[in-house]
Amino acid sequence: MWEFREGGNERGNMKHLDLVFIDLKGDAIYAEIPPDVIPILKPQLSEKLIIFIGKFVVEKAKPGYKVVQNPYMLRLNRRTIIVKSNANDLEFPKYTFSLTPIEILPQFVKNKKRFLDVLGKITAVSNPAVVRNTAGDLMMRRIIKLQDLSLPVDAIAVEKIDLPNEDQTHVAFEEKNLLQLNDIDPFTQKGERYQCTVTIIGIPDKQHWCYRACRVCSSKMISTPDGFLCTKDGGCPSKQFEWKYKIPFIVADDTYSLEFMMFERRAANLIGKSAETLRKYNDPNIIPSDISQWIGHKFTFVVRILYKKSMRTEHPSFEVLLIKERHGKQDVLPLLSSQSSALGQGISSAIVATKDLPELMTISSKTPTDQELAMLTQSIGEFDDMDIDKSPGNWDDKPSDMPLPTKRRLYDDIEDEDKKAFKKGKK
Ligand SMILES: [Zn+2]
Repeated sequence: MWEFREGGNERGNMKHLDLVFIDLKGDAIYAEIPPDVIPILKPQLSEKLIIFIGKFVVEKAKPGYKVVQNPYMLRLNRRTIIVKSNANDLEFPKYTFSLTPIEILPQFVKNKKRFLDVLGKITAVSNPAVVRNTAGDLMMRRIIKLQDLSLPVDAIAVEKIDLPNEDQTHVAFEEKNLLQLNDIDPFTQKGERYQCTVTIIGIPDKQHWCYRACRVCSSKMISTPDGFLCTKDGGCPSKQFEWKYKIPFIVADDTYSLEFMMFERRAANLIGKSAETLRKYNDPNIIPSDISQWIGHKFTFVVRILYKKSMRTEHPSFEVLLIKERHGKQDVLPLLSSQSSALGQGISSAIVATKDLPELMTISSKTPTDQELAMLTQSIGEFDDMDIDKSPGNWDDKPSDMPLPTKRRLYDDIEDEDKKAFKKGKK
């Protein structure tokens, strides 16, 4: 029995309480308790308890992150009846697993279909420490080394690994202004993180602030006559989506202006609401005031280039990895001449005093944009460059006439005309 919380950490709201049931024959099934029923059912449940259970709903199993191999799952509800059994617990299996040999684990890298079970000997354990993961987030981690049991096992003591804490306040990122960031090379500097102090000056119109994200892999989901389909390269069986943020903020300092994308976790952190919640009352093509109210605010961000997108656009886009400092709402936005803007004349409308800023202010992007071209050529494969649909429409819940996803095109597959436009954009 375990809790699933928003944002994947214990500070997030609980989204559901999860369980695995095993029956007398050893068959196992995953079960989920929705948040409103947790206070009713949780007190009646504990691990290793043998129960009779009635009045639950059987559903198809979720497509990803399976804990047990079963095509179905149970969903408990407020009418579910749980009665303690006095059956002899010696007859009941206590564990369920499906072992994967350690040597074939590399086959499952990035595979999100199920959790894997392995059997091995613990040879080393580290202290828990706050370290930065590949996405740039600070997370609590502990390293445990396992030795394959098929190897000769020596009777040696468990090694202690010292895992140093990565203290965020001591991590120094190279400070760059936007004019310098504009020169970042997506080929050679793609993993670098930079610190940058900017003011949000707008959000381009005709762009969506959220998208349908696959519940398994976060790729874009599209609507088809057969229901929703995940567009992940190489396929993904998921049919379920949730709304996630992808806010294309236009930011400026005194040197330049660029696009800083803010995805799910950082955006939720800034806005204080989930994209799911905001989507209930707002269309994807209309920027909610919860988002537009941040126009005019100054921040120190830690950013990294969105390299796949930036390879194809004239000006690079960056992903906000961390909101390092909030400097509040500015009375006056940075002054920019149109030449010093990545967005051409479109930006000029944003150069106003922000004291009387309307609730919602968007900037027209020039058409056709490099970004639109980038959309045509975008390939999926990394989370931060998620395939994001910037075309308006196609957000309704009914299946549309939109064709099934064709395989994403890489640069080499682009038709000549697109290629020319691409080169022109690049100069
Ligand atoms: Zn998917």
